[in-house]
Amino acid sequence: MRFSQLFAPTLREVSADVELASHRLLLRAGYIRQLAAGVYTFMPLGWRVLNNVSDIIREEMDRAGAQELLMPAIHPQELWAESGREATMHDVLLGFKDRKGGQFYLGPTHEEVITDLVRRGVRSYRDLPLNLYQIQMKFRDEPRPRGGLIRAREFLMKDAYSFDRDEAGLDATYNAMYDTYVRIFQRCGLPITAVDASGGAIGGKETKEFMLLADAGEDSILLCPKCGYAANQEIADFRLIVATPAEEPQPMAKVDTPDAHTVQQVCDFLHTMPERLVKTLIYMADGKPVAALIRGDRELNEGRFRVLLGAARLEMATPEQIQQYTGGPVGFSGPVGLTIPMYGDEELRGMVNFVAGANAGDTHLVNVNWTDVQGNITWARLRFAVAGDVCEKCGEPFIERKGVELGHIFKLRYAISEPLQATFTDEEGAEKLIIMGCYGIGVSRILAAVAEVSHDDDGLIWPTSIAPYHVHLIVANAGDEVQRGLAEDVYSRLRDAGIEVLYDDRAERAGIKFKDADLIGVPLQIVVGKVAGEGRMEFRERATKQAEMLHVDEIVQHVRARLA
Ligand SMILES: [Zn+2]
Repeated sequence: MRFSQLFAPTLREVSADVELASHRLLLRAGYIRQLAAGVYTFMPLGWRVLNNVSDIIREEMDRAGAQELLMPAIHPQELWAESGREATMHDVLLGFKDRKGGQFYLGPTHEEVITDLVRRGVRSYRDLPLNLYQIQMKFRDEPRPRGGLIRAREFLMKDAYSFDRDEAGLDATYNAMYDTYVRIFQRCGLPITAVDASGGAIGGKETKEFMLLADAGEDSILLCPKCGYAANQEIADFRLIVATPAEEPQPMAKVDTPDAHTVQQVCDFLHTMPERLVKTLIYMADGKPVAALIRGDRELNEGRFRVLLGAARLEMATPEQIQQYTGGPVGFSGPVGLTIPMYGDEELRGMVNFVAGANAGDTHLVNVNWTDVQGNITWARLRFAVAGDVCEKCGEPFIERKGVELGHIFKLRYAISEPLQATFTDEEGAEKLIIMGCYGIGVSRILAAVAEVSHDDDGLIWPTSIAPYHVHLIVANAGDEVQRGLAEDVYSRLRDAGIEVLYDDRAERAGIKFKDADLIGVPLQIVVGKVAGEGRMEFRERATKQAEMLHVDEIVQHVRARLA
């Protein structure tokens, strides 16, 4: 490809709200362009990388016996109602009505569509197992699209769905997909940690997420340095250590806390610490009010709370609802006198003489003890694990890292096949539900992830396996006939050898071309310059910037050796 013809407008500056290095570099180097919040164009360079990633995925999926197909992005609403997920995934569904008033959704995932296909196409045990996948744009109405391709509203995904006769079949498919994923990420040059995870709104149990540990990540990962246990914060198991109260309970008292709405404001005002305070969070679970009680310095695990309640939807109560159900304004809720169902994090049971809201404006209670609370409390594990909590398996304290989820594998079992009644006839003629798994990879997110872990101050550094081109060839002075002649010769020799070359033939200054080459990040660079008359040129590696002089007759062999 001649650079003079390439559509890759580079940018010197990007807007100040671009936080991540990957986002900034992909914009600057002309790989992506934003159309709307979380909605991107993949420019020719970006699309080439995505296609390379897709090719690796296809090779590995096909090797594992999976078959590629392509399903529609437009889904009839009835199918989502049938699975019950129109309610549970309501918040992320993007949709539209057609001219006849029919409701459709843009597919955020395809369990419904593929299970509908399979229930119509599979009759007997002889038709199973099946593992079907596609690579396709997905749509999710993310509340906070951020980080460029890390959390987009339209994104390229590989999604696979397996259909087996029984548990043993599902286990075999799931394990094969695990190995396949390890190979895919290795080939993309990504160091990946597989962690235990929650099925989330998709449902299902026994789930692994393939995480890139990076500060850019939105997920918190807890790692046990001793036994190797690794889990998403959403699901991490830890040993509960309840301190034995070392104080005698004191009589409860009401205190004025003017304008102290947050935990920190209350603590500052009362000269106490967040771990001596009980936070009371009011939620609406399928439209009914509930309270979650949690220590002042902890975070509620909403996913776990929703599962505990068995609710399809869980939303924070509005200020009006809080006033209605607690009698007080936001920021002053507390368990004393509360009549709605209460759920307490089990860690709280050991607390004495704590601080809580008084369900009245500008007022808190001090020296509260559980004997002061009349209502019934259901005790459960409601908070996230954090660094310092100890591993359930071995007792070692966890360390916490941020992670970007690049892939997941789920044992869905019957979560979708049961509501959709996807069945088969077994050897004895009995009708049985098909057991399912699903397996996703964020293809466009991989583009961002590689950019995030593989760059320097000058720009991107692609691994050869997914780089948009293998070689970035530069003619230092395009106006010099000798240089130009040699560069054209090298360009055709490399192309004849099947090597993908980006050839900067522009009449720009050499310094500008070098800067663009480093920004774009093709792994090998060849500069035809002053010694062109001797048939020699500079060969450079983008990652190390190590350079050597080579003769034109050595060049193809040298590039081949580096690519191998
Ligand atoms: Zn451990």
